[in-house]
This record gives sequence, structure tokens and C-alpha cells, in this order.
Amino acid sequence: MLKTPIELYKLYRDRKTAEKIVRRIHDLAKNIGYKIKIMNFCGTHEYTITYYGIRSLMPDNVELVAGPGCPVCIVPAKYIDVCVDLALSGVTVFTYGDMYRVPGSEYSLAEARSQGGKVRVVYGFLDVLKEPESREAVFFGVGFETTQPTVASRIVENSVPDSLKILSAYRLTPPIMRYLLENNVVELHGVIAPGHVSTIIGSSSWEFLSEEFNIPTVVAGFEPIDVLLAILNIIEQISSGKAYLYNEYSRVVKREGNILAKKYVAECFEVCDASWRGIGAVSRSGLSFREKYRKYDAVAEYGLDLTGGLDTRPGCRCSDVILGKAKPTDCPFFMKACTPRHPYGPCMVSSEGTCSIWARYGALLRDSEPE
Ligand code: SF4
Repeated sequence: MLKTPIELYKLYRDRKTAEKIVRRIHDLAKNIGYKIKIMNFCGTHEYTITYYGIRSLMPDNVELVAGPGCPVCIVPAKYIDVCVDLALSGVTVFTYGDMYRVPGSEYSLAEARSQGGKVRVVYGFLDVLKEPESREAVFFGVGFETTQPTVASRIVENSVPDSLKILSAYRLTPPIMRYLLENNVVELHGVIAPGHVSTIIGSSSWEFLSEEFNIPTVVAGFEPIDVLLAILNIIEQISSGKAYLYNEYSRVVKREGNILAKKYVAECFEVCDASWRGIGAVSRSGLSFREKYRKYDAVAEYGLDLTGGLDTRPGCRCSDVILGKAKPTDCPFFMKACTPRHPYGPCMVSSEGTCSIWARYGALLRDSEPE
């Protein structure tokens, strides 16, 4: 029988269940003679891990590292720069609240607005469509696979006015994980794959991690028990010597994903090489407009140059944090020159940015200490 939200809430936050899973993790991990590094791709998983103190429950040889799963943190500075220029030139720029304060090479959109730039914060693309059609406007399209179908479906269904252009900063998640592993950026023994993204692309999109790279992988939900079960399953896979993909979030995620959403995205966009802030160019990891829908493309309309820009400000370690090579506390600016109120780097702004999460919800003391 289907459970009510309250029942689910209790089930996935149950203390006794959590204690049992943690005991089992300790039992299994003590027989593994090396440090097990597990990457949680998604910023929302990082929130769960940090907010519920899950790192503090882990054995000494299990390390949980955050990955590149903050869609705002990885938008190249030059995209923000061109939006700042557009806003200051009189074009209305619609943006998500998370993007509003992210620093570009020099300015954020919030600073552009304070200088008289036309910047409007919206919750989503459908809010933009409620605006008057006459004005010249650009929607700053940021996000992973979860945000793309809304825009694609409205465009394909011919519900977007010609006066509205879209700057596609959309990025795809499996290619960035492939990039990390093919380039040996970080050694991983397990991956917690993003649950929300997988509702769209399907759990099958992550099979390559176990099949090609022999990495135990679990698609997980976002409650504390979801994350603990994911960690336990990864350690069970390591113990058994056989890596596979496990869908812990089967109450929401299907193997094939959301077929209609994928169809809209494929109709509107084509996959292209794309740049990630702090990482650089990643093969086939972005989306650009297909010829049929190019009239909505802000790049073509305004002749935007998206090359260059200052992605990494001097001293900021966001690129290492995004790649799982450093913790926020490894950065000398963390909670000194860089705070949620006065962010210096992109990872300190968004609710999905690792530095922002660590700053707001605290981090385990031993994680702050030098190795
Ligand atoms: Fe960048 Fe600030 Fe994080 Fe340091 S603390 S890595 S400056 S966002």
C-alpha cells in the first residue's frame, strides 16, 4: 500500500533504523583495508550528509566527498558577464535566485541590478512566460537535466514568445562523471548518483560507472536513511568484489526515466561540448539549440562571445572542491574572506554549493584538521 508523506518522512528519518545501518557499515568497513572514498554527486545529497551529521557516523576509513553537482557553481563566469552586460544595456535578464549573487569575472547580477541593470529573479521558467511579451528579455537557462524539460517543452509546444531569448548554460551530469574518471581527476570507490536528475534521465544512465569503471554506484533519495542505505550498499558491493548499479530511490526513479521529458529535450536541443567553471571544456556535456529553434538562442540573437572570463578568483579553491579534491575547510578563505553573506567564490552562494552548505550547517571537526 502507498505510504503517506508523513509515514515516508518517519520511515526515512527513523533513528533506530539509522543506528542499525550505521552498525552494519562499521562491521563491513573494518574488513576493508583501505580508505573508501565515496563521492556524492549532488549538492542536495551534500546537504543531507552535512545537515544530519552523517560524516560523523562513518568509520575512519570511509570518506564522503562532494562532487560537481551544484548547477550554479559550475556555470562559467563569462556567462554571468554577458548577462551583466545585457542587463546594463537595457535587456531584461530573468534568473534564478541561486544565480543572482554568483560572482562573474567582476560583477554578479545582483551588483548589475544595483547599478540600474534590468535583472528579475524568478522561481522558474513558467514565471517568465507570465511576463508581458513586448520587452526584450533573456532567460538565463541554468541547470542539470531536471530543469531542461520545462523550457524544452514550452518551446516545442510553441508557447514561448519570439521576444524572449534563452541563454543555455544547461549541463549534463553523466559526462562530467565520465570526465572525472577518464582523466583520473580523483580516485573513487563508490558513487552516490543524483536522485532528482535520475527521475528524468533514468537510473540506466549511470550503469557505465560500474560496467566501464568498476565503481559501485547507487541512485539514492535525499532523506538520511536513503543516503545511509546508499553508503551501506556501496560498501557491500566493495566487500563482495562485484560492482553494479543499485537504484535505492526506486520509489521515484525508473530505469528508463521520464520518456516524455527526454523526448522534449532531444527535440529542442542537441548535445554539444561545454565548459564547466573551474574544470574547463568537457566533451558532450552541454545543450545548444537545434537549428529549428535557433530563433530563441540568446547567443545567436545578441552575438554573445562566451570565451574567456575569470572562472577562478585568486586563492579560491572552488575548482578543487567541485572535483572532490579538497574540502571547503581546506580553503584559507572559508568563513573568513568568504562567507554566505559575502561570497568570494561560486561554491559559497547556492544552496547546493558545498562551501555554502558547510558554512550554514557545520562540518565535522576532524574534517577541518590537516591530513
Ligand atoms: Fe571558493 Fe569561498 Fe569555497 Fe574558498 S570558501 S573555495 S573562496 S567558495
